[in-house]
Amino acid sequence: MPATSFDAVVIGAGFAGLYMLHRLRGLGLTARLFETGEGVGGTWYWNRYPGARCDVESVEYSYSFSEELQQAWDWRERYPAQPDILRYAEHVADRFDLRRDIRFRTRVTRAAHDGAAARWRVETDRGDRVSARFLITAVGCLSEARVPGFPGAGSFAGESHHTGRWPHEEVDFTGKRVAVIGTGSSGIQIIPVLARRAAHVTVFQRTPNFTIPAWNRPMPPEHARWVKDNYADIRRTMRGSLFGIAAEFNPGSALEASEQERRAELETRWAHGGPGFLGAFSDIAVDARANEMVADFVREKIRKTVEDPRVAEMLSPRDHPIGTKRPCFDTDYYATFNRPDVTLVDVREAPIEEITPTGVRTSAASYEVDTIVYATGYDAITGPLLAIDITGTGGTTLRAKWAASPHTYLGLMTAGFPNLFTITGPGSPCVLSNMFVSIEQHVDWIAGCLSHLAETGATVIEAGRDAEDAWMRHVGEVAGQTLYPLADSWYLGANVPGKPRVFMPYAGGVGAYRDICDEIAAKGYEGFVLSA
Ligand code: NAP
Repeated sequence: MPATSFDAVVIGAGFAGLYMLHRLRGLGLTARLFETGEGVGGTWYWNRYPGARCDVESVEYSYSFSEELQQAWDWRERYPAQPDILRYAEHVADRFDLRRDIRFRTRVTRAAHDGAAARWRVETDRGDRVSARFLITAVGCLSEARVPGFPGAGSFAGESHHTGRWPHEEVDFTGKRVAVIGTGSSGIQIIPVLARRAAHVTVFQRTPNFTIPAWNRPMPPEHARWVKDNYADIRRTMRGSLFGIAAEFNPGSALEASEQERRAELETRWAHGGPGFLGAFSDIAVDARANEMVADFVREKIRKTVEDPRVAEMLSPRDHPIGTKRPCFDTDYYATFNRPDVTLVDVREAPIEEITPTGVRTSAASYEVDTIVYATGYDAITGPLLAIDITGTGGTTLRAKWAASPHTYLGLMTAGFPNLFTITGPGSPCVLSNMFVSIEQHVDWIAGCLSHLAETGATVIEAGRDAEDAWMRHVGEVAGQTLYPLADSWYLGANVPGKPRVFMPYAGGVGAYRDICDEIAAKGYEGFVLSA
């Protein structure tokens, strides 16, 4: 008989779930991990589209918990391509012998807390019925792919794929006319690659995004050596930073800098490329005038790169401050629109009305295509959690509790759901950070918490309602001091019709957030209710 009773059930075999499983084993706890995919890797298992690549530098987008691992692994490029990240996830799963506790091709459908037994009862789509004292979600923030409900989508005669649900077999674009709908990070990565492969690419853009050149390149061996010799310092910098990256942030103000100083700083960072660009000045995220100066600089770059002034203007964002939507980092994005075989269509002016058997029809014109790529994003942060039917004490569902907005204490637990931990949940820095830094911090905190329970004889921990209310007020106040709420972004759920408009991540930075979490733990898990 296979085991059905565990100390912990973990949901998801991405980087959060893999590390959580490893730590649970280290604590001597039994665990079962359920994963929908056929393999490990989470978002990097699903996002196999051409050009998929992480835009955090590879040496920073990796685990720090094992010195042997970080010394043994070699990254090939400045930013890791999807196949390399997947190889890394597979290597970690093998190196730490994690697969034996993972059930693949299995989706958790329901989880209900049994108060009398103080256990979570978990069901899957393959008929598993297991129970565990602790339920730990490692479902990722961007795993619930969203295709808008365009009328007629099912009638399309060609192939259509969402970037986040890309087939394992190669999709052949040779000689094809391709539609790409969406110009967020995924669209911005796939468009230049498809332009080189397909006969024609038509890009359907609703909102232009700011994108900064990534300047990807092979990893110079001497840099790889230097990183391996200095990992301790690099990791320390990342952990104490705002966004979990090692890039240097300039504490100076854009408003106080002279025109010449400002331009020099921005040119230097543009030439370096990547996420450090937005660290050019400390007031970009909080002052509209400072922000506009930086936004102007990027729009000028667009005009210099894109030959047709009409197309350049269409590509120039004007409806949100730079950085208030997830920044994008590209390879040849703007220059791709100089190609004669790439067409940009503004679907804000003329929205998509239907998908026909032969293509896309907007209110202004019809476009015949062979393949449609949906780069239309995700029901982010709360979507993957609410896709599971989770019931806490007294029969309250997570969906009901979060109907008006997600409510958590530290993004780690939510009152009324004892012994449920949400790795990188809403109310934590999650998507505003390098996910590896946030994942390791959450997993380490949860492991510390489980040790504390064992040492003190407590079996149940739950977020206190007052502490949770105070934390959510703080999350809102910190967001209110920034320009983030000004954009219609997925950070606020604005991309999903009917979703509550609430800024979901904690914008105080991963360094400050870590200090808060550590202090709360040091005070005996202040704000949590522990019981035997
Ligand atoms: P996204 O940023 O949400 O972009 C979705 C795009 O689809 C937007 O341009 C959106 O337009 C458009 N869209 C949605 N519904 C539409 C409709 N009905 N009609 C026309 N256009 C529509 O999604 P994503 O590009 O997949 O990126 C999501 C996140 O994943 C990123 O922000 C990032 O955090 C992560 N990601 C990271 C990487 C990386 O590390 N390199 C790569 C890919 C993704 P509107 O803006 O007008 O809504």
